[in-house]
Amino acid sequence: MSEVTALLRETLRELVPYRVPVHKGVVKLDANENPYDFPPAVREAILGAVETALFTRYPDAAAEELREALAGYASVGPEQIMVGNGSDELILDLLLAFGTGRRVVIPVPTFGMYRLHAVIAGAEPVLLPRRELGLPVDAETLVRAAEGAAMVILCSPNNPTGDLLPWDTLVAVLERTGAVVVVDEAYYEFAGDTALPLLDRYPRLVLLRTFSKAFGLAGLRVGYMLGAPEMIGAVWRVKQPFNVNTFSQLAAVQVLRHRELFAGRIAEIGAERERLYEALREVPGVCALPSRANFILFNTPRPARDVYDGLLARGVLIRSMDGPHLPRFLRVTVGRPEENRLFITALREVCSA
Ligand SMILES: *Cc1c(COP(=O)(O)O)cnc(C)c1O
Repeated sequence: MSEVTALLRETLRELVPYRVPVHKGVVKLDANENPYDFPPAVREAILGAVETALFTRYPDAAAEELREALAGYASVGPEQIMVGNGSDELILDLLLAFGTGRRVVIPVPTFGMYRLHAVIAGAEPVLLPRRELGLPVDAETLVRAAEGAAMVILCSPNNPTGDLLPWDTLVAVLERTGAVVVVDEAYYEFAGDTALPLLDRYPRLVLLRTFSKAFGLAGLRVGYMLGAPEMIGAVWRVKQPFNVNTFSQLAAVQVLRHRELFAGRIAEIGAERERLYEALREVPGVCALPSRANFILFNTPRPARDVYDGLLARGVLIRSMDGPHLPRFLRVTVGRPEENRLFITALREVCSA
């Protein structure tokens, strides 16, 4: 072991540094981004706002204007909102505030950042596999696992399975455990389903949202958290003072002001998801899960690596989910209609090769 590795915190030694493969000129269906061009009117509004922005000063640490705009969008008070450098940052902040040195329950398969950030924060992730992939997380198992845990992290619609968290499961965890319960609603705009009505009743509930998916702002890193004022105050203690830069703050404000320009595209992606689901199910040997988000999880009889490589050789990039929880599974983002057709054609070739 090298001197540096010997000095590294023991729990970090097994972590593989997070890297994302970069491929140029491919149909990019690997990261659940919005496949449409950014609306020109919103781009112009952002560039207009940039004209008068002060880049010599630190950004607004509290993101007042953005939180006001979000309050209108989410129908809560600005004191119930904290903004982050992507919701990824907020996941880490929540774990730093509540998780370090304690157990954090994470039903799997789900978004990989929960476990990663739990390890980084020095928490103890407890991964809870589903009894069956097609079935929701079992409420009783979840409540039992969460006994004495500091935090439970749920995702709805869940990435990568695409299903919604049953309402009664969430209520059971809130009622029967004392843990902080996080519900990641990164795909809220596609599903239209939210735990927001429960916020008033449960101060231990936190919702996470993002501008990266439906609102096409993945490159600017803006996410937010909704919770009781006391919850926001608790997490604010670990917040980096100037975590969201001036440009990203003003861009997110403009997106919210023009949000009706995104509504049509979000609906189109939903309709296209259903067409893609039907097309996937018609590929021989493919088994796809129904989804409420902008991606679909599926498997084939062939090794996931072969399918991934075969698609990439044909110019289509998707995400392999292969592993003990998801053998031979891959996840494809719903793209524009012509992109989805290219993907299906390539997949048919790869599966029959
Ligand atoms: C994409 C994704 C995020 C990341 O959001 P950022 O705001 O871009 O950090 C968070 N949660 C889930 C479940 C996601 O799929």
